[in-house]
Amino acid sequence: MREVAPSFSHFFLQSESSSDLAGMARFLARFLDLFLRPNCPLCDRPAEDEFCSACWHQLNRTRLKNPHQFWRGDLPVFAWGRYEGTLKRSIAALKYEGRPQLARPLGHAVGRAWSASPPLKSRRFVVVPIPMHSEKQRKRGFNQAELLARHFCEVTRFPLQSRGLTRVRNTKPLFELNREERRQVLENAIDLGEPFRRRPPQHPVLLFDDIYTTGTTVREAFRTLQNCGISVAGVVVLSTPGDRRSLV
Ligand SMILES: [Zn+2]
Repeated sequence: MREVAPSFSHFFLQSESSSDLAGMARFLARFLDLFLRPNCPLCDRPAEDEFCSACWHQLNRTRLKNPHQFWRGDLPVFAWGRYEGTLKRSIAALKYEGRPQLARPLGHAVGRAWSASPPLKSRRFVVVPIPMHSEKQRKRGFNQAELLARHFCEVTRFPLQSRGLTRVRNTKPLFELNREERRQVLENAIDLGEPFRRRPPQHPVLLFDDIYTTGTTVREAFRTLQNCGISVAGVVVLSTPGDRRSLV
């Protein structure tokens, strides 16, 4: 504070030109920022960005060395990190603790990883997030897959079609069901969205989700698009348990 106060009065005494005023506005914004910036949502320490540097460090430890190690088969998967530790905690904060702002750094991180080593070079895709049922989305206030996809697209510059798919049935949580039950529950739960009904996409689709576990939901989305003659290049996810058995 002792250092801030003299230069603050210096501005008031000497700012006459418009560039000085602009400088003062920037100074004031930085000054207020010191007090208004929220702490890191994971550890409550002061943070320069959405996460503090210690939590960023921990997040990076969950990052997969080779994000396209699962990029193979009929539905290839590009995954940024392992669903554990700080990444798991961040996704919980984003989804269940009302922190949609965390989608920005996480979506950007996935975008940077894709841009650094794209599994398919020099091709364009339309990014389509896995849809959430409207009732569930109303309760949460947002669809985290859509927010993450939006920020992924800011980095990759791929077009986003957030209504390419729509959830027509509200399904119960799937984690208590076995694979066959999950498949049955999800059958016909995802339909083509209005924009794709009017005009099919000009480029292959990249599906986007926050977590890839058994892949049942993504497969249902994949089937819906394929049945309508729309090509799907693969799926991009922020996280996966990384267990190879869960990805086959
Ligand atoms: Zn932190």
